[in-house]
Amino acid sequence: MIPFLDLKAQYTQIKPEIDAAVMGVIASGNYVLGPQVEAFEKRFAAWCGTTECKAVNSGSSALHLALLAAGVGPGDEVITVSMTFVATAAAILQCGARPVFVDVDPLTWTMEPARIPQAITPRTKAILPVHLHGLMADMDPIMAVARRHGIVVIEDAAQAHGAEYRGRRAGSIGDLGCFSFYPGKNLGAYGEGGAVTTSNPELARKIALLRDWGQEAKYRHVVAGFNYRMDALQGAVLDVKMNHIDAWTRARRAIAAIYDHLLADSGLGRPTPPRHCRHVYHVYAIRHPRRDEALRALQDAGVGVGIHYPVPVHLQKAYETSRFPRGALPVTERLAAEFLSLPIYPEMQPEHASEAAQLLTGASLAAAQ
Ligand SMILES: *Cc1c(COP(=O)(O)O)cnc(C)c1O
Repeated sequence: MIPFLDLKAQYTQIKPEIDAAVMGVIASGNYVLGPQVEAFEKRFAAWCGTTECKAVNSGSSALHLALLAAGVGPGDEVITVSMTFVATAAAILQCGARPVFVDVDPLTWTMEPARIPQAITPRTKAILPVHLHGLMADMDPIMAVARRHGIVVIEDAAQAHGAEYRGRRAGSIGDLGCFSFYPGKNLGAYGEGGAVTTSNPELARKIALLRDWGQEAKYRHVVAGFNYRMDALQGAVLDVKMNHIDAWTRARRAIAAIYDHLLADSGLGRPTPPRHCRHVYHVYAIRHPRRDEALRALQDAGVGVGIHYPVPVHLQKAYETSRFPRGALPVTERLAAEFLSLPIYPEMQPEHASEAAQLLTGASLAAAQ
């Protein structure tokens, strides 16, 4: 058995630190926001290269509040991608705005900047690129077109903790960055969690208000807000995990290097980070022309696999519109049919990566290409 992911293996390694932090919170009597969350926010902002971080209760809440803080509202349009988790598009709809999907680059699988200009209308309020699988979108041209049109850029960095683009970290290039700390993410809480990063104090102030019922002071509500606060337990867990995130990222990259090496001559599409990008491999996906067959063969051999994502957002029943029918985003749709995610996590045994790669290059699957 080669699991897709093993969260217990990580806890086992850091149990004493985690247990002490968790017991400390329980004994403190403070369970929501508070000093542990503030300590984590400071540390995470510095690590991302921003001046501000506001912790919330999920990555989905982070996206919702970032869009609201950027002034996105009813009738507005937000340019994004369809090759993402539904939360990206759902957050736009929650603001009363409409997602306008552009296709992705066939090699990097992230937003194709050349497609943005023709998607811009007078209603375009923001661009929301997604750093898919841990590789940052091509931010320079995205920022350039946004600045030319006076449009806000919000990074969906939910899969990209510590990823870099020309030496700058995910969450620090756009006006706002949104992170998820869902347990399986590269930096995961023991429950739900998320954060918004920014170096704009005014945007940070708005996020802080919106996550806590718009309270400027106790029972003084200056804007209508939400209960999107982070639990103290999650803040404490995340603060402990910050001690290890850099080592875990290196371990992920080492597993990815094994796949890269063993699949180099396979003819299969693999992650192709540009030289100036540091990929953090939340997911290691390949493209397989007979994906479903490969998926079954790996599963039958006891290898945990996944697909991120099998159905793009514009073809999901809940998010379909006449503006983006089947065929509207050919690269995205092709990737959805070919993507196959291999097991990858920091504690993974290198031999397991070799075994999974050998199954893919072995007689039956290689012949199938
Ligand atoms: C996980 C994820 C989200 C949502 O984060 P939650 O913490 O699960 O709400 C949003 N966007 C992307 C790209 C994600 O991977």
